[in-house]
Amino acid sequence: MKLSYDSSEFAKKFHYDGNDLGATYTKEQTIFKVWAPVAGEVTLCLYKDGIEGDCMEEHPMVQKDYGIWDVSIKKDLEGIYYTYKITNGDTTCETQDIYGKACGVNGKRTMVVDLENTNPEGWQEDSFPNRGKITPAIYELHIKDFSSDPHSGVTKEHRGKYLAFTEEKTTLDNKGEVPTCLNYLKDLGITYVHLLPTFDFGSVDESKPLDDQFNWGYDPENYNIPEGGYATDAADGHVRIKEFKQMVQAIHKAGLGVVMDVVYNHTYSTDSAFQKTVPDYYYRLEEDGTFSNGSICGNDTASERYMYRKFMIESVCYWAKEYHIDGFRFDLMGLHDTETMNQIRKALDELPNGKEILMYGEPWSGGPSPMREGSIPALKKNITELHERIAIFNDDTRDAIKGSVFYEERPGYINGKTDLGEKIPSCVLAWCDGKGGYMPKNPGQIISYVSAHDNFTLWDKLNYTLYEKPDFYKEDKEVLKLNKMAAGIVKTCLGTPFFQAGEEFARTKNGIGDSYKTESAINQLDWNRACEYKDLTDYYKGLLAIRKHFQAFTSKESKIVNNFIFENTNPEEAIVFTVKGTGAEEDWWDELFIIYQNEEKDKNFKLAEGNWQLLCDGTSCIPKGIKSLEKEILAKGKAVTILGKIKK
Ligand code: CA
Repeated sequence: MKLSYDSSEFAKKFHYDGNDLGATYTKEQTIFKVWAPVAGEVTLCLYKDGIEGDCMEEHPMVQKDYGIWDVSIKKDLEGIYYTYKITNGDTTCETQDIYGKACGVNGKRTMVVDLENTNPEGWQEDSFPNRGKITPAIYELHIKDFSSDPHSGVTKEHRGKYLAFTEEKTTLDNKGEVPTCLNYLKDLGITYVHLLPTFDFGSVDESKPLDDQFNWGYDPENYNIPEGGYATDAADGHVRIKEFKQMVQAIHKAGLGVVMDVVYNHTYSTDSAFQKTVPDYYYRLEEDGTFSNGSICGNDTASERYMYRKFMIESVCYWAKEYHIDGFRFDLMGLHDTETMNQIRKALDELPNGKEILMYGEPWSGGPSPMREGSIPALKKNITELHERIAIFNDDTRDAIKGSVFYEERPGYINGKTDLGEKIPSCVLAWCDGKGGYMPKNPGQIISYVSAHDNFTLWDKLNYTLYEKPDFYKEDKEVLKLNKMAAGIVKTCLGTPFFQAGEEFARTKNGIGDSYKTESAINQLDWNRACEYKDLTDYYKGLLAIRKHFQAFTSKESKIVNNFIFENTNPEEAIVFTVKGTGAEEDWWDELFIIYQNEEKDKNFKLAEGNWQLLCDGTSCIPKGIKSLEKEILAKGKAVTILGKIKK
């Protein structure tokens, strides 16, 4: 009789605790282990090539306890590709290894790899030296977007690839004047580069590297292997691994951390290694036996199932250890259960310096998903069930400031819907006032943002709310003013600031929101724009520098909200507040005085006693000070004004 996957009998008989699944390589032998508890037969197939040619050797695997099948091959298999032929019931499928660490073109055959061979020079010494010492400010970037632009200054062969990050002194059109790519990023003031999916995904055909193919990459094929489309050679399984490590090394060398966007909530298709290995185990099914679709991608994985939870934990730790990753962003985290998320946190904490590895995710799903009864989905409303060092993207902040992401014309507080201003003080306090109907344990649990890869760029959204027929490429003073106001608010909020690459130079996707497979020309960063909008970029730099020199913004203590004292919260007028410093030695000011002046006209505000420096007047933001002031400030309309009280 077939045991139910969720029965205690199945758990007792088949839940496996070993950490040796996949191919374990030594020069003398490679041991293959696969968990296939309902299989009748499993065969290992060896290949010379990653995609072409017939099987060289077949080796029947032997069934052991806990649903494990294994075989050891006593020769040096480094660089040999392999698959498993698995018979479940009447069906035999050939599949790559779920636990594979290397693969050939398009990931259909996994490869035995000696990872030592993939380490670039100096890899042993590589780390993010600032991990834990620097407060996170996160920059969301797509690998191909970063350097595809022919003006990026990156050599042609490296454009859109991992290796673009390794080019150090890139400038616009190679003229030696305007820094681009990593040369630009290292001085922006952000501290983490968050990369859109970089594991092997299915939507880009790696066998056609010369075609202009673009995808965000939210369609996982092999979770523990880098994507081949970003490597200079997808056919040799070593290359993508080595080049990925070179990218990480280069980002670390620039003084920045690396966050990976991980998508464990669904797979590219249900014709996956998971389904072929253990049918219906790794996915949630509706009562009628169809795949559930809370991901809007045709399937949802089942994090609450023991072996998938174990897979997720091991996979995240593998990236942290083998690839020196400093943070993880979980796509549709609301499809995972809080227990799995907390166990991942615990496992990361046990790694050296692991407590400082960032974890955050989207606390929502695309729709309902039949999570097993008793499991708690990692949704915003359940934030108290999540570990205090797991953060969530805050859509309340995002939408209150500049309007809904779903209806392009609907404004937010800054662009016309003044009553949303009532939410702004909560945004400032990272919703630790409980007014959102959920209670973060501390401000560190909140990601404060107004733009991400999903939906419109901030520039495009603001254009939509101001004009019926926007010209996104027009340099528009009104949009620029609102862009600065939005940034000024987000960067004076508690929580971790996060923004989409290029927000700081008025990035446009010509009004397209869901550009997940739109051509590169629309998606890529336009480095000429970084030059044209340098004034806006400098404004962002100033805001990030103020945060860096005022620790109250980045405190992870819940009581820090008491340092924020509101004088006026009437959104019809202006939102005015003081932030007391924490007394930290590195702070430049004793306190900050902040005004969100939402009216069009300029307006006077009284200053408390002391020597004040105007740091931001809504047009410029200069932490060293624009001018000294006493008694009062004339704050510009539709602008964020920031003053710092000079330390006694
Ligand atoms: Ca791929």
